[in-house]
Amino acid sequence: MSAAGIPVAPPRAGMRGCEDTPALDHVLRERGQREVFCGLTGIVWLHRKIQDAFFLVVGSRTCAHLLQSAAGVMIFAEPRFGTAIIEERDLAGLADAHAELDRVVTRLLERRPEIKLLFLVGSCPSEVIKLDLARAAQRLSARCLPHARVLHYSGSGIETTFTQGEDACLAALVPELPATAPDAPESLLVVGALPDIVEDQLGRLLAQLGIARVDFLPARRAGRMPAVGARTRMLLAQPFLADTAAALQARGVQRLAAPYPFGAEGTTRWMQAAALAFGVSTQHVEATLAAPRDRAVQALARQRAVLAGKRIFFFPDSQLELPLARFAARELGMQLVEVGTPYLHRQHMAEELALLPPGTLLSEGQDVERQLDRCRAARPDLVVCGLGLANPLEAEGLTTKWSIELVFSPVHGYEQAADLAALLARPLDRRMRLAA
Ligand code: SF4
Repeated sequence: MSAAGIPVAPPRAGMRGCEDTPALDHVLRERGQREVFCGLTGIVWLHRKIQDAFFLVVGSRTCAHLLQSAAGVMIFAEPRFGTAIIEERDLAGLADAHAELDRVVTRLLERRPEIKLLFLVGSCPSEVIKLDLARAAQRLSARCLPHARVLHYSGSGIETTFTQGEDACLAALVPELPATAPDAPESLLVVGALPDIVEDQLGRLLAQLGIARVDFLPARRAGRMPAVGARTRMLLAQPFLADTAAALQARGVQRLAAPYPFGAEGTTRWMQAAALAFGVSTQHVEATLAAPRDRAVQALARQRAVLAGKRIFFFPDSQLELPLARFAARELGMQLVEVGTPYLHRQHMAEELALLPPGTLLSEGQDVERQLDRCRAARPDLVVCGLGLANPLEAEGLTTKWSIELVFSPVHGYEQAADLAALLARPLDRRMRLAA
């Protein structure tokens, strides 16, 4: 089994979200072989975000290799992730996997006392042998608290796409969040792991809008996770957090409907949604956002000159495809050939869908061979796809962008709008230079 490019099961039926929203005319639903990374990939950015957490994958050597190569961290750097390798005797049921796991965790926490939050991360092998990580986390937490809390989630690639790793991790945090007091003032919760610099920028703007209490999930420290309750409003910063949002809603948190903060327009509408919920006047919103928005629009002009009129094709991979397509079409003047997404959550995507050009071809799920045929026939100028497809398509003369890079890079907010556009422009620029 390999981490990239493994065939996985069709999307889960429940992932399609609200069925009450109007039917979409141009959604091609496909069920077939998919080419995706697994949810372990999320550890690459999550371990940098929560600075006193450790991610212990309970998996195989393949899982360990995926993490090591994706994260690019040397072993001697004492990274905050690792793999408890399931050996053959565990698979054969000859060893007590729970006893082994207890031993590994105890040794780890003794050696690394700075760890305050330990995630046991399930994998394909741990799911195949039905290792009950929920029970293990409960048992270990009872033993390790108050020094460290132990939680679990699945990063398995059997049924998921790679950004669901973050969704599963944040959803595991939600039951642990403290409850707000009944008389607590209204607060805003921004949900989704953002690079610290982006979080600071967005936090400053929200404060300038006059929203007094803004929290971020996940927090940078295990002990500072935000309290939530019926007076909490949430804004999703990432479009792939269906389970996390559902868990927060079950705790009374209200979701604010908004497009995602990519590009000048997306960021403005996202900020406006927060402002509206907190009763900020439109004049104050305009006065606060005008300067950063105008700077972002100006900064985009250079990339727009390169990208306008270019035809772009999105393979389903990161779940960022719809917001990125909206940004590419409306702010960069690109033509959308096909916008693929692993799952179409109609409720969380309603505002994005409304902004896409009429007649945009959307595809949900994947039958990779048929989609490759459509892509080859269309000969787009730029293909956004997973690593497994990029090299073969490049060899066929198509220009590609790795979708995973758009998740790893700081791309949210006004200050990053031009950087996001540059990530799309760079492969075209490289192709032109090679051809010259
Ligand atoms: S979790 Fe599954 S898909 Fe991911 S690296 Fe491990 S074996 Fe491969």
